[in-house]
Amino acid sequence: MSRFWSPVVGTLSPYVPGEQPKLQNLVKLNTNEHPYGPSPKVLDAIRAACDDALKLYPDPSSDRLRQAIAETAGVQPGQVFVGNGSDEVLAHVFLALLKHDRPLRFPDITYSFYPVYCGLYGIEYETVPLTSDFRIDVDDYLPGRNGQAGAIIFPNPNAPTGRALDAAEIERIVAGNPDAVVVVDEAYVDFGGESVIPLVTRYDNLLVVQTLSKSRSLAGLRVGFAVGSAALIEGLERVKNSFNSYPIDRLASAGAVAALEDTEYFEKTRLAVIETRSRMTAGLQALGFEVLPSSANFVFARHPSKDAAGLAAALRERSIIVRHFRQARIDQFLRITVGTEAQSELLLNALAEVLQA
Ligand code: PMP
Repeated sequence: MSRFWSPVVGTLSPYVPGEQPKLQNLVKLNTNEHPYGPSPKVLDAIRAACDDALKLYPDPSSDRLRQAIAETAGVQPGQVFVGNGSDEVLAHVFLALLKHDRPLRFPDITYSFYPVYCGLYGIEYETVPLTSDFRIDVDDYLPGRNGQAGAIIFPNPNAPTGRALDAAEIERIVAGNPDAVVVVDEAYVDFGGESVIPLVTRYDNLLVVQTLSKSRSLAGLRVGFAVGSAALIEGLERVKNSFNSYPIDRLASAGAVAALEDTEYFEKTRLAVIETRSRMTAGLQALGFEVLPSSANFVFARHPSKDAAGLAAALRERSIIVRHFRQARIDQFLRITVGTEAQSELLLNALAEVLQA
């Protein structure tokens, strides 16, 4: 606390990011990065962009990148908003679209940044419990059961559970709330979820947020985007242009465009993660874990008789890091990123050893 702080600063509960360890040679399964590097074409494009143009500011409207995203998503460039990672996109979304007279609604177990943004921007919110098997119940998001929400946001697949709704279920939420913005955070959708981007042309209250950090292996480059009706995008642009920030730098833009264009590499690596997830899930189940069905590049698992914090600590002693949340209902779970096949084997062997001890 300092008497020089603005009053709001003392009230904030900032997000605690997943650890980015300084040690080398750790099996890092804690922050859901892609285990395979980006397409070689991304590296070529970034090298080619390292030219004299770096002395110039980037394109403030990111035309080339928005065009590439629009082509991938099957929408118009005017329906695309870009930012430095989807976290920055979400920061603008909360301010531009989610602050209303009625509370914003989201699940009680979800991406822990949402309440942080609410605190920062003074947005009132209400949380709805997930079902006993950690699913989102669509009816909880319809005015009939819980009244009219000011706006709605949830990830699909949800994080950290990995459980997904299908597009028809999400459409019920969007269609059932014509007077409220519904934001679907699809950070992990390419690993088995069903994107609702095709619905944005039919519903002007739907905004879909995606990232190149996960399925495109570019967490270090910081590129995310939102797709929605031109009116929603214009609201986001107004907020973004009220900061003097350039959304995407020249190198990130070149790399992101190349990643979006290399569909073959994208397919190959995303399918590799899905395959490893199946084997890893079976391996964890064989060790006695209960594993929630995952549509993401991580699994959420608990052991009936072993303490999760203790398991995470024992794995760490063996140079493997996974994520453990000290939150009610989920403090006996571990969230484990799907790594390479070799990393997954190391994880399963280490767990077998720990469980026997
Ligand atoms: N949404 C969800 C649900 C996430 O888990 C993450 C990653 N922590 C993000 C958004 C943000 O990812 P990025 O800023 O790297 O795009």
